[in-house]
Amino acid sequence: MPNMNPKKTPMPEQDPIVRARNFDEVSLGYTADLAMEEAQRCLNCKNMPCVQGCPVNIQIPRFIELIAKGDFAGACAKIKESSSLPAVCGRVCPQESQCEKFCVRGIKGESVSIGRLERFVADWNMENDHSEPVKPEFNGHRVAVVGAGPSGLTCAGDLARLGYQVTVFEAFHVAGGVLVYGIPEFRLPKEIVRREIEGLGKLGVEIRTDFVVGKTCSVDELFERGYEAVFIGSGAGLPSFMNVPGENLNGVYSANEFLTRINLMKAYRDDYDTPIKHAKKVAVVGGGNVAMDAARSALRLGAEKVYIVYRRGEEELPARAEEVHHAKQEGVEFKLLTAPVEVIGDENGWVRALRCVEMELGEPDASGRRRPVAKEGTEHEIEVDCVIPAIGTTPNPLIRTTTPGLETNKRGCIVVESDETGKTSRDAVFAGGDAVTGSATVILAMGAGKRAAAAIDHYIKTK
Ligand SMILES: Cc1cc2nc3c(=O)[nH]c(=O)nc-3n(C[C@H](O)[C@H](O)[C@H](O)COP(=O)(O)OP(=O)(O)OC[C@H]3O[C@@H](n4cnc5c(N)ncnc54)[C@H](O)[C@@H]3O)c2cc1C
Repeated sequence: MPNMNPKKTPMPEQDPIVRARNFDEVSLGYTADLAMEEAQRCLNCKNMPCVQGCPVNIQIPRFIELIAKGDFAGACAKIKESSSLPAVCGRVCPQESQCEKFCVRGIKGESVSIGRLERFVADWNMENDHSEPVKPEFNGHRVAVVGAGPSGLTCAGDLARLGYQVTVFEAFHVAGGVLVYGIPEFRLPKEIVRREIEGLGKLGVEIRTDFVVGKTCSVDELFERGYEAVFIGSGAGLPSFMNVPGENLNGVYSANEFLTRINLMKAYRDDYDTPIKHAKKVAVVGGGNVAMDAARSALRLGAEKVYIVYRRGEEELPARAEEVHHAKQEGVEFKLLTAPVEVIGDENGWVRALRCVEMELGEPDASGRRRPVAKEGTEHEIEVDCVIPAIGTTPNPLIRTTTPGLETNKRGCIVVESDETGKTSRDAVFAGGDAVTGSATVILAMGAGKRAAAAIDHYIKTK
């Protein structure tokens, strides 16, 4: 008999007051009993509507059925047929707009908690499965991957499983992309990312860090070094700014810089002397996951007051519902329908306040979302000593300016012939993830890496 409880089985979490002051993981994960209870809510629908919402086609009801039977190893093996980073995806995927959106249980109650179940089996497997993956026999072909984010790592893993010798070239000193430099420890512990990446090393994937393609060597030089194809998964790491007066005052950080100092330069640890402002009052501008991460990190660094300043309303907030909920629980204050017009400084050149204007929503714009319009006579100041714009990112121009013939669009994203292949305007060069789409999601980047791996395999075998 399925469990007909209309609500998801709750997942234990740290208390909001306690967790708002530490960087430990917020959600503690299901126990085996809780996972089996939740798995029994799945109706095992024949046509599997949830699967159409998963960009990497995980056979969701199949793995949930195995959890319900207590076969956690089998459940993990089922997920790993489609995804190489389940512990990551179980934590950060926007399930409510993907697999869980299509869950039949969601019609008259809450959908099955697919993300929590995925996280459970991935964590269980890390603890309990000590078998070593078998390194496939070398098929005689070498492929280079630019960028060790989710798209590059997925592409590399899939090609390695097919016998390719894959080298990933990563600009930073650690692999993981946004998973290590952007998403904070309290949402995605770096040890989890490290262990998922370790699995790729065992498959034979070589990761060369501190290697900036376009500076250390170009894409063309990679071909001269004997690689037969190149996958570009270099992400969209260049922050956009607000273009308002005062933006270059001391105490204004792009969210990327702020989070990188915290994550990669360990600003949250007492034994590190990382230069970062421990502000008292912080305004984070934007409403996406990046904004939530910056706001919640600022709280944890000791801020007394943290505001989210967002020009649209609650319904339009692009962040995952869970992140918004957690931010509110922890005390982040949302100033919705509010846009910044100026950062105001003190006599020493440090931020003193953010001048804002109230907004109302007008007609839909090109993106289909209602356009925010400033309301006259509503200018006001919010007293803050730190402002963090989190209003989007675009790809860094380095790859496109050093790779002749690589077509990009006006946002600086690499143009691909089709999403199915990731084939670019340059022969033997493929691309995917945020470098192609602009800032998107982990699972979409992984899906693109997966499809490009299949296309590269086809290209090399048929050329
Ligand atoms: C703070 C933050 C929070 C987020 N939260 C979520 C979330 O909760 N859920 C979700 O699904 N998505 C989230 N995202 C988005 C998600 O992380 C990205 O969509 C995803 O990481 C894109 O993967 P990618 O492989 O395309 O690029 P990235 O993860 O950006 O990786 C690209 C890698 O390429 C490297 N690189 C760049 N240029 C070069 C070069 N020239 N040479 C060598 N290496 C290079 C970079 O250093 C980086 O490691 C978040 C993003 C941020 C910034």
